[in-house]
Amino acid sequence: MTGQYAVDLRSDTVTRPSAAMRRAMAEAEVGDDVYGEDPTVNRLEQTLAELLGKAAGLFVPSGTMANQVAILSHTERGDELFIHRDSHAYYYEGAAATLWSGAMLTLLDGDEGLFSAEALQNAVRPPNIHHPHPRLVAIENTHNRSGGAALPPNRVDPVIEAAHELGLQVHVDGARLFNAAQALNISPARLVQDADSVSICLSKGLGAPVGSVLVGSSEFITKARTYRKWLGGGMRQAGVLAAAGLMALENRHRLADDHARAGRLLNGLLDMGYDAWVPEVPTNMVMIETPSSADELVEAAAKEGVALGTMGLRRIRLVTHLDVDDAGIDKALDTFSRLRTFNRHAG
Ligand SMILES: *Cc1c(COP(=O)(O)O)cnc(C)c1O
Repeated sequence: MTGQYAVDLRSDTVTRPSAAMRRAMAEAEVGDDVYGEDPTVNRLEQTLAELLGKAAGLFVPSGTMANQVAILSHTERGDELFIHRDSHAYYYEGAAATLWSGAMLTLLDGDEGLFSAEALQNAVRPPNIHHPHPRLVAIENTHNRSGGAALPPNRVDPVIEAAHELGLQVHVDGARLFNAAQALNISPARLVQDADSVSICLSKGLGAPVGSVLVGSSEFITKARTYRKWLGGGMRQAGVLAAAGLMALENRHRLADDHARAGRLLNGLLDMGYDAWVPEVPTNMVMIETPSSADELVEAAAKEGVALGTMGLRRIRLVTHLDVDDAGIDKALDTFSRLRTFNRHAG
């Protein structure tokens, strides 16, 4: 049970730290991380760097700060960042990318949140006084606004290769990279082997209360450490949070449970005639298209103790996570069954 709801499917950010996690936080060995002296933060940064096959890591308070520090570190004023128009770093982070970095964002289109190598090649203009300086490409995996789409190497690798051939750097927003790795049955390091930087969220499916980690080369992370300080993200005895993050990492081994429950939710909804869908390689999300206002369905479900999120005027997003068990899925399906009149296909 999360908060006032019997089952909370709004996001995988709503999980509460377990008793064991709170104990680990209370007992964490700490120091001043701005001096680089917090052993637990250092251990978390090294652990993530190793898991993702990079040289170094940086603990930051949020996924948004991880993305923004990455963009600041890769670019300068007048540079150009190529990004999908449905990316979190563009769609859900205010005007931050443009404000902090002074780089221009060029928006690209493509299936399930990823443009093709060819679309990128077409968008990058040759050096000329009329053009910004092409510098950075951002990729998001899993792709949130595409319903948690896990993007396989045969789609991602060619884009990264094209970027590098054009002399651009590549940042992967891997807020849910471990979900992608699980769904694709591939190591997370393989998924980002050619990326120059990667951010991951500890506070989504992994279940930590706070925190993200940015990884990349040692030179990149040294630069990123300065920008984190600029943005006010230099924390002191942050080991209490890193301890939760280290414990949360173990939850990557149970993400398949969340994916299976999302699958059960999808099948149940389709059986009832709901216009529900998941991406080609699904993870922990299910989307529903509603015939009228999505807010009405959200409101009706909330009255029954089931919290849903919207992703557009006629789209509902359901997310499974650590705090949704089989009984929660039963409860949600039972509620959807009683609210069936909201769907045009159902009787
Ligand atoms: C949640 C999310 C973020 C940002 O994380 P916050 O910790 O909420 O700032 C970044 N990218 C993606 C794809 C996300 O889903």
